[in-house]
Amino acid sequence: MPSYHRFQSGETVMGRWPGSSLYYEVQVLGYDGKTHLYTVIYKDGTELELKDSDLTSLALFRQTSGRSRSRSRSRSPGRPRRSRSRSPARTSRRSSSRTTEVRKERIKDSLEIRLTPLVMRHENNSNSKPEKKEENNTAKITPTVVEEKKEAEAENQGGGRYNLRRRKDQGDGKAVELEKKTEIETESLTTKPPAPIKTADLEFGGRVGVFLLMLLLPSAILALLLLCGQKDASLQSFPLELPASESLWDWEVFGIVLLWLLFQAALSLIPVGKVVEGMPLSNGKTLKYRINGFYAFVVTTAAVAAAVHQEVDFSYIHTHFLQFYTSALLIATVVSIYLFIRSRWAAKDELAPGGNSGYFIYDFFMGRELNPRIKSFDIKFFCEMRPGLMGWVLINFSMLLAEMKQQNLESPSPAMLLVNIFQLLWVADGLWHEEKLLTMMDIVYDGFGFMLTFGDLAFVPFTFTCQAYYLVSHPNELSVFWIGTLVTMQGIGYYIFRKANSQKFAFRKNPSDPALSYLKTIPTATGKSLIVSGLWGFVRHPNYLGDIMMGLAWSLPCGFNHLIPYFYLIYLITLLVHRNARDQRQCRNKYGSAWEEYCKAVPYRIFPGIY
Ligand code: NDP
Repeated sequence: MPSYHRFQSGETVMGRWPGSSLYYEVQVLGYDGKTHLYTVIYKDGTELELKDSDLTSLALFRQTSGRSRSRSRSRSPGRPRRSRSRSPARTSRRSSSRTTEVRKERIKDSLEIRLTPLVMRHENNSNSKPEKKEENNTAKITPTVVEEKKEAEAENQGGGRYNLRRRKDQGDGKAVELEKKTEIETESLTTKPPAPIKTADLEFGGRVGVFLLMLLLPSAILALLLLCGQKDASLQSFPLELPASESLWDWEVFGIVLLWLLFQAALSLIPVGKVVEGMPLSNGKTLKYRINGFYAFVVTTAAVAAAVHQEVDFSYIHTHFLQFYTSALLIATVVSIYLFIRSRWAAKDELAPGGNSGYFIYDFFMGRELNPRIKSFDIKFFCEMRPGLMGWVLINFSMLLAEMKQQNLESPSPAMLLVNIFQLLWVADGLWHEEKLLTMMDIVYDGFGFMLTFGDLAFVPFTFTCQAYYLVSHPNELSVFWIGTLVTMQGIGYYIFRKANSQKFAFRKNPSDPALSYLKTIPTATGKSLIVSGLWGFVRHPNYLGDIMMGLAWSLPCGFNHLIPYFYLIYLITLLVHRNARDQRQCRNKYGSAWEEYCKAVPYRIFPGIY
């Protein structure tokens, strides 16, 4: 049902500055019917969400302020104003000194003049003037202003009157440092504990949806693996016969999976590789991450090569594939339970915005804690990149060996080789650019619960390998023309994917980078800009487009006999379309009218001319 709201986007009204009785001219950027909050922008660029009761029309404001001015003029100078402080010390002095009143008036005036944006502009692509201006503004923030903001936040926390949370952003340079400093000053003055996060918008169909997902996903993957492995891989061969219990569980396999995890964890702790800072968290802190994924990959490859030299038969993974899957599933479930339990002791400001609804099942799935760590070991960052991604490459290799064995080949088939090489490139690229993961939604926004744990440890290594698994028992001949076509498709997809991701990362890191000066941008009220030319002007998510092209190049080598090897492609398109919708929502909230402008300039989301 559309909700009624008094003011429309673009309207200029008077907005109360949170925690004070001061009103400023603001422009309405939008209204959220769910939270009943208006997004408004002040003249200095500060963007906040305000309640209806804190907004008033210009005409009404002039009327009332006119009346109050005339009332205050008629007030006898000797009659003291009520002090805002209830401290006994101040009350006793209150009426004795008129100079105190005059000082208060001056402070109030200075506040009106000096109130500066607390959410600052971080970037400027075309020239550096606005950035400088903001630095000056920041320098002007007086203790009084900080105190005023502190009061505003305290009021916000206490009664939930305003939404003063920092808009999710924030990566760009110097200004962030300044913003952090302001926040630290503010924090030190704050006495109240942070307000608990409460997730209002439930995704994936809420409690029922995530419950069904948790139930169906593990079984769906089992069904996929059974189908991929049997001679008739057609979907019509459902319902499947359930395998014997011994083919689903093996303690030796479970031990190997545990050892693999420990080996990768040990590699991640080796003090090799640079240490970088992640994105600023909502509490103003930043976490440090050691970037050594690619080194770990090289060491793992050397270890596997040494094992092959020692005649270790890696096709063992293929013959025990279901048991590997169930072991990974069990470990993912146990890790999720551990994460949920430990989140009870997590500080309130370390919880994820999306996983704290108060509903057990939902929060277990989405993950309550944003960055669960055991000392410096970041569990989420580790799981996202290491065991699953490298496991994927290792499983593919085992499928290659299994194919040669099963089909009596002296060398792997071209189809199997292409699948192995293409996917190896994707994983190596991801590990090489490991640092970029720190700006992704998974790290910045999502909690670490069953969804990501299961995704990282079970879903990725056992479903992304489905093409290679399929090819072991379903050979597919490829002509030279097809090989050329697939290599070209992979090459173009990779180029778009890499270029788009690297360009955005470089731009967010340093928007004034002369190497990026050719890009056209749209400024936003948060200070960050949106790229509107080149790949980001072609579609709104060129990186998704490149990823999907690669997904197609990985599936086509399996031929057209069955749908099952296209599982990855279908999943990827579904995931990225859903992710795109999530991201659109967040960007609309973050950037308001600037995002609308971007959408008008770049109408297609992922597929040019189609979607
Ligand atoms: P993006 O890297 O596209 O990040 C989206 C963010 O980019 C937005 O929230 C916004 O954040 C910023 N942004 C959006 N438009 C612009 C613009 N025009 N100019 C500048 N900044 C913009 O999305 P993801 O994190 O979802 O994906 C990253 C990569 O990972 C993709 O290549 C994707 O294909 C891949 N991926 C692959 C998966 C798989 O299973 N194979 C799963 C998930 C992702 P802000 O403004 O705050 O910077």
